[in-house]
Amino acid sequence: MNDDLSDLYQEVILDHSKCPRNFQRLACANRVAEGKNPLCGDQVTVFLKVEDEVIRDISFQGSGCAISKASASMMTAQLKGKTRKEARAMFSAYHDLVTSGTTPTEDVGKLAAFAGVHKFPARVKCAILPWHAVMAALDDKKAPVSTE
Ligand code: ZN
Repeated sequence: MNDDLSDLYQEVILDHSKCPRNFQRLACANRVAEGKNPLCGDQVTVFLKVEDEVIRDISFQGSGCAISKASASMMTAQLKGKTRKEARAMFSAYHDLVTSGTTPTEDVGKLAAFAGVHKFPARVKCAILPWHAVMAALDDKKAPVSTE
């Protein structure tokens, strides 16, 4: 691996792509949304249980590249227990991070591992796809989201 690729495939990202957390269908979900990234072939379905504006539980299923899988996995770990408002703020910070590589003002925790993604424009959509799906789920949108 050269330096640039090791920026992209941080150890924590490789770990989450090989062993995704919350990778299952959530039987008690009351919000479900689907996302597709036709350019890469990533597909993700997110399952949320939202109560009193709080994400009580969250999981995902799907197939795709290492970046989309790791992003979905780490996202579910970060968003569990967050309010809808906190989830939006985190998405906005994460979006800035993967598109510009700038350190966000918001605490994004382990998501900071995705800072190298901005050097690989084709991978940005992979990294953001699961978040788009979650935002659609929080808005209760029925149509699948696409990055195109
Ligand atoms: Zn991808």
